[in-house]
Amino acid sequence: MNATTHQKVVLITGASSGIGEATAAHLARQGMRLVLGARRTDRLDALASRLRAEGCSVAVTRLDVTSLESMQGFVDLALELHGRIDVIVNNAGVMPLSRLDALKIGEWNQMIDVNVRGVLHGIAAALPVMQRQRSGQIINMASIGAYTVSPTAAVYCATKFAVAAISEGLRQEVGGDIRVTVVSPGVVESELADSISDPSGLEEMRSFRQIAIKPDAIAHTIQFAIEQPADVDVSEIIVRPTASPF
Ligand code: NDP
Repeated sequence: MNATTHQKVVLITGASSGIGEATAAHLARQGMRLVLGARRTDRLDALASRLRAEGCSVAVTRLDVTSLESMQGFVDLALELHGRIDVIVNNAGVMPLSRLDALKIGEWNQMIDVNVRGVLHGIAAALPVMQRQRSGQIINMASIGAYTVSPTAAVYCATKFAVAAISEGLRQEVGGDIRVTVVSPGVVESELADSISDPSGLEEMRSFRQIAIKPDAIAHTIQFAIEQPADVDVSEIIVRPTASPF
């Protein structure tokens, strides 16, 4: 790793738990300068305190990815602090699974707002900065649910198919200066299943999550994608439990 890589300014949405938290801790410990956002600022503050005690550079702010204004404030904070942004990890996501005939329309909208609009807001706020800089990397968190659909996961998978489509379109449009990476995890230990309110969705998850891998596996994958040379774009990567049949 070279010094430039160590000093990269990395923004992570949804850094208050799970994959985002693990990725923030791992990259900060590599010497990267982290700017972290989520709604649970108490969790972000606790993470930042732990990492700063180790000498890491970490800033945190309240972020609701469903609001473009909030996302713009997040990117503006990074610019105020560091004068540039090198990487944004659009990681925030929710997964309240249910069958379509349960008609949990509020939860469908929440998944669309966070998982799709949230990623678009991250692109809208970060892309102009990266185009001005003529460098940058947008890392979007999809899922193995971006490749296949299963019962109770129709809307969640639709949002992840959308993340994959948006990322590929973006990659084709901005190639040259800006790298676009889609990370698609299989089942990973986190709080993601906590948002499931529907009994059929919970049942589906109970067996599915038994083989979950640690979020650190995704943190290492993201580090790998960031540390490639500027002309090498790890555009798509799946990381799943070895035992996964999916
Ligand atoms: P967690 O539930 O542990 O983390 C989700 C994060 O998203 C939290 O930090 C939460 O923060 C944040 N978030 C949710 N809504 C918002 C919002 N409106 N604004 C800002 N932040 C928000 O789950 P994971 O770590 O597992 O999920 C991270 C990503 O990984 C998601 O996109 C998920 O779809 C994807 N993924 C996860 C897999 C898994 O098995 N764990 C598998 C495949 C993909 P807060 O509530 O504080 O705002």
